[in-house]
Amino acid sequence: METTGLTRVGWKTLTIMNNQRDAINIFLQGDTITVNANVKLAGNHTAGYLATGLSYGDLALSGIKDLWEGKYWMDGLWVELKMDLVQSAGNRRNSVTINIDATQIVTEGANAYNEKRGSWSKGGSKYIDMYAYKPDYEGSGLYSASHFKNTSAHEFGHSMGIWDFYETSTMYGVPESIVARDDLMRDSASGRVYSKTVSVMLDAMWFNKSQELRTRK
Ligand SMILES: [Zn+2]
Repeated sequence: METTGLTRVGWKTLTIMNNQRDAINIFLQGDTITVNANVKLAGNHTAGYLATGLSYGDLALSGIKDLWEGKYWMDGLWVELKMDLVQSAGNRRNSVTINIDATQIVTEGANAYNEKRGSWSKGGSKYIDMYAYKPDYEGSGLYSASHFKNTSAHEFGHSMGIWDFYETSTMYGVPESIVARDDLMRDSASGRVYSKTVSVMLDAMWFNKSQELRTRK
């Protein structure tokens, strides 16, 4: 059986309570993993997405919840992951800022800064840029709601210390075959979260070091 971060850290009783000022804290209680994050929305986050009645900020947050929350089979147990996204403007806690640009045509779909490899730490503030448009993409250039939500969840994965799995495949000698093609950290547009993805996230939090899929340290 694969040894995951959960077994190594005695996860059933452990709380990865980093620090009350950390942007992201992890609570492990019983069979439930709660990711508690201090999120700040910025930019055009109140702008509405087409006629859905939802703002871009709503889409970004619901994307993180919809993609990450769920039940995962880990070490012989079904574990429930919950996303507790707290928005407390003006508090002194570090935050994950999600900056939304719903107005400009740009070349990148999204970016997460200071969250990859050596520069990531679990406690520090994180910064995500989300763009609503990409030239020549999906006809009008506007991302579909599901694409936007998935991308938000993918970038949030970086905020939790996970590298791109597609970079893992090409840059670190890990066979592509061990990473699902539709893993969210490989396919930001339409992927989903696997148990392995959650396990890598927990390792990043526990070791306070960003993680790719195979190397855990
Ligand atoms: Zn990425």
